[in-house]
Amino acid sequence: MDFGFSKEQKMIRKEAINFCKKELNKDYVRWMDENVDFPPDELWQKFVDIGAFRANLPEEYGGDDISVLDGMILFEQICKASMSVALAVGATIGFGTRFISELGTKKQKEELLPLIGDGKLKTCMAFTEPAGGTDILGAISTFAEEKEDRWVINGEKVFITGAHVSDYMIAICKTDKDAKPSQSLTIFLIPSNAKGISITRIPKISCHHCDSVGITFNNVEIPHENILGTKGNGWYEMLTVINPERIGCAMMGVGLIAAAYEDAMDYVKKRHAFGGPISRFQILQHYLADMYINLENSRNLTYKAAWLCDNGKDYHLEATMAKLVAAEGALHAGRYGAEILGGYGICSEYPMQRYLRDAYQLQFSPISNEMSRNMLMQFQGLPKSWSGSEAI
Ligand SMILES: Cc1cc2nc3c(=O)[nH]c(=O)nc-3n(C[C@H](O)[C@H](O)[C@H](O)COP(=O)(O)OP(=O)(O)OC[C@H]3O[C@@H](n4cnc5c(N)ncnc54)[C@H](O)[C@@H]3O)c2cc1C
Repeated sequence: MDFGFSKEQKMIRKEAINFCKKELNKDYVRWMDENVDFPPDELWQKFVDIGAFRANLPEEYGGDDISVLDGMILFEQICKASMSVALAVGATIGFGTRFISELGTKKQKEELLPLIGDGKLKTCMAFTEPAGGTDILGAISTFAEEKEDRWVINGEKVFITGAHVSDYMIAICKTDKDAKPSQSLTIFLIPSNAKGISITRIPKISCHHCDSVGITFNNVEIPHENILGTKGNGWYEMLTVINPERIGCAMMGVGLIAAAYEDAMDYVKKRHAFGGPISRFQILQHYLADMYINLENSRNLTYKAAWLCDNGKDYHLEATMAKLVAAEGALHAGRYGAEILGGYGICSEYPMQRYLRDAYQLQFSPISNEMSRNMLMQFQGLPKSWSGSEAI
């Protein structure tokens, strides 16, 4: 068993650290968190310049086709610097590239993938609806009606990350009112500028520089060929394509824990009370020890899931555990990091309050911690604890 990175992987890590130090320093991230709802174009271009959007594109479309694990090495540093930026970049790399590469027609791939690689096309993934995200199959009612040469879409999506700036929405809609839910869905590529689409802001405490918004489709007409995959097979296609998302979200938690731990560690050495540094107080050391253990556990699980995925092995159990451990570890790190910083823990001047706010988002997105635990026990062979089993 080899837990070490190769020479090339160490190089990716070093370059990622240098990139984040230069382009995502704490002052700039704070400025973004207080002023913008998505990373600015100048920053986007810097990601283009380092080849971030080309990295996981297939080679025939101008990409580097790197492994999930190598991608995660770069992603870890972005997550540590800013979970909002990681989400924003991830919505295009993780959803756009993967859905189009795996499900797109030759024409869709030739037209769209090179644009993604050049940073000229942003995507979002619009699945969740107001009726609920956990029981997504039971909740989807957005309907795409098939006409001769087009689809007409009506319905509502909620919490869609980056939809307010995306060029294309990858949306799952019902296309059959009579079929059972798992056989009634189809994935569409919806141009965001189509007539009849309106966006509603959803103010939230976390990830301020990457908004997640509501979308209303009111008689939105799209060309007939704008299907991704096969009509009626969207549920199963979505499950297959979306799986590595859980590894990326686990890495967001890893990044948050790493950032909170590093800042808290730095603080305890500098801050003095009762005649010496607060680092000598055992209880604060225990807070830090738990953060360190959570960091190690979640990082190991996340990289293990990425390795399993790259090697064609089943990784769903590990990815689900990684996301759960990282999400809860991130919340713990933000909470106890804030305690360690005392009053400064909740002041805008310090990023600790951002880590804490951002960590909340990971508790239920993309999958809630409760549902993660349900799935873990289902993977272990216990009876499925939730209804709707006909669907899966
Ligand atoms: C900031 C943000 C960004 C997001 N980005 C996107 C995006 O880009 N695209 C997208 O499609 N979606 C996105 N989502 C949606 C996200 O995936 C859902 O919020 C998530 O699936 C939970 O759904 P819900 O919020 O409707 O909660 P609900 O499904 O209503 O759940 C409420 C509570 O009930 C619990 N619960 C439900 N069922 C069970 C069960 N069987 N057993 C135990 N507990 C259960 C849940 O764990 C939770 O605690 C985003 C959400 C947020 C908040």
